[in-house]
Amino acid sequence: MENQMTKPSQQASYFGKIVDMRSRQAMIDFLSGHYRYDTANSCNQSTSYAHCVKIHSLGLTNAQDDKAHDYLSADESDWYQRDEIIERFTREQGGRYTIGSNGRSSGYLVLYQSQYKQSEHKSRCRACGQLNFKTVAETNGNKCGRCGAEGERGRADFVKPLMTLDVWPMRGTDMRGDFDPENWSMDTLRSRVRLVQAFDAACDELRLSFIDMLDESEVIEETVTITKTVKVFGAAA
Ligand SMILES: [Zn+2]
Repeated sequence: MENQMTKPSQQASYFGKIVDMRSRQAMIDFLSGHYRYDTANSCNQSTSYAHCVKIHSLGLTNAQDDKAHDYLSADESDWYQRDEIIERFTREQGGRYTIGSNGRSSGYLVLYQSQYKQSEHKSRCRACGQLNFKTVAETNGNKCGRCGAEGERGRADFVKPLMTLDVWPMRGTDMRGDFDPENWSMDTLRSRVRLVQAFDAACDELRLSFIDMLDESEVIEETVTITKTVKVFGAAA
């Protein structure tokens, strides 16, 4: 029988915390006590809200931990590359904040400042995705300059302007952490707490989706024969 109690590995809220939004001190304690990490390198000294997301910090069961290590050695991508979760977070923040990774072997998820920007690109190749600064009407036909696709597979104009995200890794967030009443009204504090809680929730969602994937997968071992050239010292024939 499965244990019916919630195991740490299944808690929906692993990074997230409940904060009393009526209390100025509770909000300041939450913000100033939150884990932080460099946004760029340590020389730059900019930091922001963050979480350590190395495998051993994820509260996994032993079985999940074993699979996680196998996953990382088999797959070159970071375990939290679930773009739709990060994109949704960014969209909900109006593009002003996003989530990126930093640190050796990308072991930290960091809250970054960002901004949506309208791209200068006017069309995109449907075959290879190459972007182009001109509309189809502005060029002779819709042939892609990179892969040569044209007609139905060739370039098509964007119906809505393409938006891209500028991320500012040199900007830290709340580095002084003083939250003085002059600059931080209760409303300002609440909206900052909501932002950091949304960041925590997105990290929780990334972690749970990784755990679901681990629980559903099994590691398949394959034997691979490697041919290599070795030098052998011997008498010439
Ligand atoms: Zn193309």
